[in-house]
Amino acid sequence: MILGVIADDFTGATDVASMLVRAGMHTVQVLGVPDGGLPEADAVVVALKTRTIPAPDAVEQSLLALKALQAAGARQIYFKYCSTFDSTAKGNIGPVTDALMAALDTSFTIACPAFPENGRTIFRGYLFVGDELLSESGMRHHPLTPMTDANLVRVLQAQTGRKVGLLRYDALQGDAAGRIAALQDEGAEIAVADALSNSDLLALAEACAELPLVTAGSGVALGLPSAYQRRGWFEPSASAAQLDVVAGPAAIVSGSCSEATNAQVKNWLAAGRPAIALDPIALHHGGQSVEQLLGAALAAQASAPVLVYATSGPERVKEIQLALGVEAAGTLVESALAAIAAGLVRAGVRRLVVAGGETSGAVVQALGVQQLRIGPAICPGVPWTQARLAQGGDALLLALKSGNFGGPDFFAEALRAAGVDL
Ligand code: ADP
Repeated sequence: MILGVIADDFTGATDVASMLVRAGMHTVQVLGVPDGGLPEADAVVVALKTRTIPAPDAVEQSLLALKALQAAGARQIYFKYCSTFDSTAKGNIGPVTDALMAALDTSFTIACPAFPENGRTIFRGYLFVGDELLSESGMRHHPLTPMTDANLVRVLQAQTGRKVGLLRYDALQGDAAGRIAALQDEGAEIAVADALSNSDLLALAEACAELPLVTAGSGVALGLPSAYQRRGWFEPSASAAQLDVVAGPAAIVSGSCSEATNAQVKNWLAAGRPAIALDPIALHHGGQSVEQLLGAALAAQASAPVLVYATSGPERVKEIQLALGVEAAGTLVESALAAIAAGLVRAGVRRLVVAGGETSGAVVQALGVQQLRIGPAICPGVPWTQARLAQGGDALLLALKSGNFGGPDFFAEALRAAGVDL
């Protein structure tokens, strides 16, 4: 193994894995702290859910993941977080970085959430989301990790006792390695790195390929494979993104209420395709049940791929949350959709699209899936993946879409990409 990645959330793990596969690295994603040996691959991504849990727990889980990756021989470790640097004043990016640096006995790393292809750029240490500063973007209202300061040096310095410096954009296209050495001489242990374009990311990756630890969004992963290749560590493989051809029925389960998913559901319905709506209030009061929804989905699915969805617009979600409570509504819908997805797979579905980060986590858990092989991207950040079902060892194709990814026709595009005739 060349690269071992520790990701702080589920769909973020798939995002970075997709980036590595695109550059020709055979990549496997492991769900949760591995409890045994790791599979053979150029890169292994351990998907944790540590973004907003208490810092000591995030540190503990990250160190366990590190141990497993080290035992499997990883040359370099990559701590992956969100491209908007989602964290609270207490962490967890700083504390996890500190702990990984100590465990790896290293005195220098970088921090770079930039992902220019998705509009996340860093200039003189300030993170932009599109044309807006992070602190002026929608992220300032995030319910769990509101980001109210765009200066990443300041944000990270508040989370760590180590000195945070800045690797400025103009150093990247010059002597980046020399500038890194100078920063270390000045006492910096973590350098926030600017990046305005993919070529900045490539230069940064080249300068960091031999660091024991890199911390970043998924962008830096774009450049690492070619840096490894130049060092003779690996040859890109044309078959890295290849999955088995899987036949069998297809279905979609959607528990995301993000804007992009609402548009995707609307599009699917407008095309007159089969769909079953889950109504959380009816489900709560017994007017709907998982068994009845599953039965209806199976009946509809006999003729064409069916969509089962709880997706609603913001007004309706507010009403439902008011009636049931925010958390209770979320848990009710997640567990119902997970049970329906598991029922569909039990009934033979082998190509399954899931919309929603939390929803994906619940579905994958209900299916008992522990590993995903990463395949070709459907759109930036969302690849088809392949799992093996414990029972019978059948292959199952899964596309796990985080809420705001994908264009309006994503569901049909995903199914067609998996060979479904629509
Ligand atoms: P996203 O990736 O868009 O954030 P998630 O699956 O992570 O999607 O989160 C959506 C949350 O909203 C889940 O907890 C889901 O169960 C919940 N949810 C889905 N539909 C509804 C609804 N109609 N009313 C209230 N909550 C809902």
